[in-house]
Amino acid sequence: MSGFFDTKIEYLKGVGPQKAALINKELDIFTFGEMLQHYPFRYEDRTKFYKISDIRSDMQQVQLIGSIYSMETIGDGRKKRLVAQFRDETGAIELTWFKGIQWVAKRLVKGAPMVVFGKPQQFGRKISIAHPEFEPLTNKQEKEVNFQPVYPTTEKLRSRYLDSKGLSKILETLLLLVLPKVPETLPPSLCQTLSLDPKPLALKEIHFPSGHQALKKALYRLKFEEFFFLQLRLLKMNLTRTEKFRGKVLDKTGLLTKFYKEFLPFDLTKAQKRVIREIYNNLKSGLQMNRLVQGDVGSGKTIVAFICLLVAVDSGFQTCLMAPTEILAAQHYEGLKDFSAKMGLKIALLTGSTSKKNRLIIHEALKSGELNLLVGTHALLEDVVAFKQLGLAIIDEQHRFGVAQRAKLWGKNTDFYPHVLVMTATPIPRTLAMTVYGDLDISMIDEMPAGRKPIQTVHRYDKDRLKVFGFLKREIEKGRQVYIVYPLIEDSEKIDLKSLMDGYESICRAFPSLPIGILHGNMKPIDKDFEMNRFVKNETKIMVATTVIEVGVNVQNASVMVIENAERFGLSQLHQLRGRVGRGSDQSYCILMSKYELSKDSRVRLDTMVRTNDGFEIADVDLRLRGPGDLAGTQQSGLTDLKIADIVKDSEILVQARASAQSILEKDPHLNSQENKPIAEQLSRLKKNEMNWSRIS
Ligand code: ADP
Ligand code: MG
Repeated sequence: MSGFFDTKIEYLKGVGPQKAALINKELDIFTFGEMLQHYPFRYEDRTKFYKISDIRSDMQQVQLIGSIYSMETIGDGRKKRLVAQFRDETGAIELTWFKGIQWVAKRLVKGAPMVVFGKPQQFGRKISIAHPEFEPLTNKQEKEVNFQPVYPTTEKLRSRYLDSKGLSKILETLLLLVLPKVPETLPPSLCQTLSLDPKPLALKEIHFPSGHQALKKALYRLKFEEFFFLQLRLLKMNLTRTEKFRGKVLDKTGLLTKFYKEFLPFDLTKAQKRVIREIYNNLKSGLQMNRLVQGDVGSGKTIVAFICLLVAVDSGFQTCLMAPTEILAAQHYEGLKDFSAKMGLKIALLTGSTSKKNRLIIHEALKSGELNLLVGTHALLEDVVAFKQLGLAIIDEQHRFGVAQRAKLWGKNTDFYPHVLVMTATPIPRTLAMTVYGDLDISMIDEMPAGRKPIQTVHRYDKDRLKVFGFLKREIEKGRQVYIVYPLIEDSEKIDLKSLMDGYESICRAFPSLPIGILHGNMKPIDKDFEMNRFVKNETKIMVATTVIEVGVNVQNASVMVIENAERFGLSQLHQLRGRVGRGSDQSYCILMSKYELSKDSRVRLDTMVRTNDGFEIADVDLRLRGPGDLAGTQQSGLTDLKIADIVKDSEILVQARASAQSILEKDPHLNSQENKPIAEQLSRLKKNEMNWSRIS
């Protein structure tokens, strides 16, 4: 029966091969099923009529009743247009057409009452509507509730009369034909509990709403369904994996207890303890772990990772920690080296710049099982890197690594999957995490270690530069160090490098007696290390840098971060950069420098940074500003398949849909029950569609 929904649209009455070809090409719609999901993106309320004297040029659209009292074609060639004078009892306006002039002229009847609809525009003292919709007045129009659906369409389609109205006609025909055959995709009990519209009703109402309330219910039902199946599939993926791949039981706590007793450098926060417990319960459960740890910059993810590593090593397994950049990998290594030495663990660092000789030594030590912990970059993923038995892999992500790369880690052992812990360096909103990382369990470190002084953030314009320099001078005199960061964006690398160099020179001029360092991506690794080390050792007081310092770098004495051209950075990047200060006990500052004229979005970004230090709040604003499409990792997440639901605006529905999917899978993991049959059937339909797609593209 689902074959019916695969029917090509050319077989629909009123479409035919030519129009169908155009729709295929322009809208990427081939079948009845796809056409059915070409939803209106808004509705025009056609219940209201305006008088011509009420029209203001800022109105989005108006609907008028009146008649045409004169019309003429003016101009030649491309300037040719049809102009009609239209009036009601309160005044007159102009209607103009630049295209399809003959077709329109044939249909306009002078003096006959008609309804006109369109967007008014002001030209001098005249009001004009270009390409209005029009039709003869009938009694019907004045009474009925009338939501006119507005469909996405294109210029090419419009020129073939497949404008919104044309598409609406097609959908009207289609609905009559298919509605009786539309299957229910959700179980009756769920529809009842949440009072969801039956699927056919929802489809009818979304295309041709019978009123506000009915439309709202239809939207809810269809959005819920989209989220529900997206979440169901993610949850099922996780379930299948844990069922298929029993995890090794990691439950020894000897090393951990020793570490707590003798070496723990500070009290853990409540959130850290809770997350460690969640991870431990997972590791000892015998189920393979795939878990995401979310925590803001500075919330203390590293120590949590280390404590979990101890459990794995204690239980007789090897571990690895993978970071996105060499600098960060090196820093993790430095940070964990001391702990490892104290605990008698063997640790090594493997990155792209590890020498061949050391590489071979590391490979051997991994194979023999002598090495307990390997820290590194992507280099860890290479096939030559083979463990004796990898029990726990930790990934410190800058951006989502992607399922494929995680799968590579799982494949490091031939006989069992290691447990996988993903730590995000950038917080993302809960709803997005549910989807982008929806196949993982999530733990949140939602608390900062005690005694941190919140970073003070201010926004300054270029004209305040002298004052800012004065402030830097005083902070440096107090013994502090300063970062000054310039944007570096790939396509304009040369210009940016110049602005970095200019900036560096002007800083040198402003602080002639101070040692100043510089760091950017075009430098050789060895030079970068040299500059970084001078700064770490407090030999340089100011570090002028590009965003290479964005991730990870940890210099406790650096307490001032100046960000130049701050309007050019994204919010999460600003937050990451700011996270480089505020790591010690001194009061820290972040100074956002910008030009005076700012776009609305830039202003929101800078204001948000000044207002809050909370990474999750910032991530929320970021998501609202940019939408999910631009955020890293969303491409493979299924988010782009959403036709009607919006992860930002409909986040409550998302949460509800995930909860419903979860509770259904808990009771019936394989969806075998009679009750859940509609779900199982829809899942297989979705899967089949996907296969069709992969064959096409
Ligand atoms: P992130 O979550 O950004 O990776 P880190 O793990 O680098 O954060 O921790 C940031 C700093 O806070 C480190 O210097 C770390 O030693 C310190 N830290 C972590 N947890 C605590 C705690 N519970 N109390 C005090 N300091 C802590
Ligand atoms: Mg970190």
